Amino acid sequence: MSRILQSAGERRAETHPLTWRLHDDQSPVLLEEYLDTQGYAAVTKALEQHTYESLTEEVKSANLRGRGGAGFSAGFKWSLTMKGEGVPRGYIVCNADEMEPGTFKDRLLMEQQPHLLIEGMILAGIANRAKQGYIFLRGEYHLAAAAIQRALADARADGWLGADVRGSGWDFDIALHTGAGRYICGEETALINSLEGKRANPRAKPPFPGQSGAWGLPTVVNNVETLCNVPGIVNHGADWFQALSGDLSSDGGTKLYGVSGKVNNPGLWELPMGTTGNRILELAGGMRDGLTLKSWLPGGGSTGFLLPEHLELALDFDTIGKTGSRMGTGLLTVVADNQSMVSLTRNLEEFFSRESCGWCTPCRDGLPWSVKLLRALEAGEGEAGDIELLEQMARDLGPGKTFCAHAPGAAMPLASAIHYFRDEFERGITRPKGEAHADPIPVGS
Ligand code: NAD
Repeated sequence: MSRILQSAGERRAETHPLTWRLHDDQSPVLLEEYLDTQGYAAVTKALEQHTYESLTEEVKSANLRGRGGAGFSAGFKWSLTMKGEGVPRGYIVCNADEMEPGTFKDRLLMEQQPHLLIEGMILAGIANRAKQGYIFLRGEYHLAAAAIQRALADARADGWLGADVRGSGWDFDIALHTGAGRYICGEETALINSLEGKRANPRAKPPFPGQSGAWGLPTVVNNVETLCNVPGIVNHGADWFQALSGDLSSDGGTKLYGVSGKVNNPGLWELPMGTTGNRILELAGGMRDGLTLKSWLPGGGSTGFLLPEHLELALDFDTIGKTGSRMGTGLLTVVADNQSMVSLTRNLEEFFSRESCGWCTPCRDGLPWSVKLLRALEAGEGEAGDIELLEQMARDLGPGKTFCAHAPGAAMPLASAIHYFRDEFERGITRPKGEAHADPIPVGS
């Protein structure tokens, strides 16, 4: 599934900065080849030509927005850490706990291009005056763990990590930390707690991690794809990065877009930021088995369902944000006309309910309650008022009611499914008991 569906011949360094080195057989790009293809050139450039501030400024002017799903400015995040002399040196944490339903882009980058991630982390380390990096990796990503371990050892042996990086007088190393398979560990402050050996409950923000993060020190938490974009920006400049998306988007760069669900050709593509959903679905070969698209999630289970007509829109943070949904990770999950929106929503809410850390009441108690109501509707045993109750719950799970974005994320598919497909929910109350409903295929299958 996590196959990049562009042949090597189509990918070029200037247009496909994330994937141009990838092999068609999906084997990892090892150190020697990486060095032969401009690898670690950005670290050399940064050490020779940049200050902490100028490196942060370059990333800020590139308008690199967080590819984990929230789209927050990476450069702004970096500007929160204290840069001057004599301040405590903090940490760079790569959030590699990729568990968003339907999302598999970071896995591809880590399995096949670990040095690109390491280079991005070293650059983040330089800009933020960090002393140590951590890759917080999803526990199930065994192939990625092996590729990263080998790449870390090779980079260390070649002087890119460890004491006195390439004779610069600066010490920086990276450790791989594997998680135990909890979705909440991808929330940056829960991740930090987990890294510190504590229970993975989110912390209140502010302070943001850049102000006070791991062990109380300034900590930058960036997603894998975000960090993998940094070497290109340092090598070619902020203007080049901006221009990658052409007229398609005010956000710069490329994006790893993907599709899963009932399409002919599921996979991943590196495309200019702002590519439309229609184009991405076309690359995925369209719907399979004569099925028709009914709905789609733009980027994971914590985004809102959209309609086929929304496929015309540029898939970028602001454009999709205006629909009431979010781009999230940019990996589409398609829903076919024979799939039940009630079942899909129940499946997602069950996932969010199971993965709640239990810290905040609306999330701990509201999510299992929503699952109970959805199960009843799915079985055709719903009661009058259930849909309104679910709508009220979606509001109560929304932003500002909990410490972290878990519950608001869970509220998005729930609220949007009812908004666009209310009739399907109503049939869960009105249809004769025992009558079958549409095919209850779970999301992502
Ligand atoms: P958020 O919008 O609260 O924050 C995003 C980032 O911006 C964080 O690093 C945060 O510290 C920073 N930030 C926000 N406001 C700031 C401010 N005023 N000053 C400084 N920094 C600030 O989102 P979140 O809770 O970190 O993440 C939610 C997102 O995670 C969702 O978009 C969801 O799609 C995504 N997600 C992704 C995965 C995955 O596997 N990739 C899994 C779960 C969730």
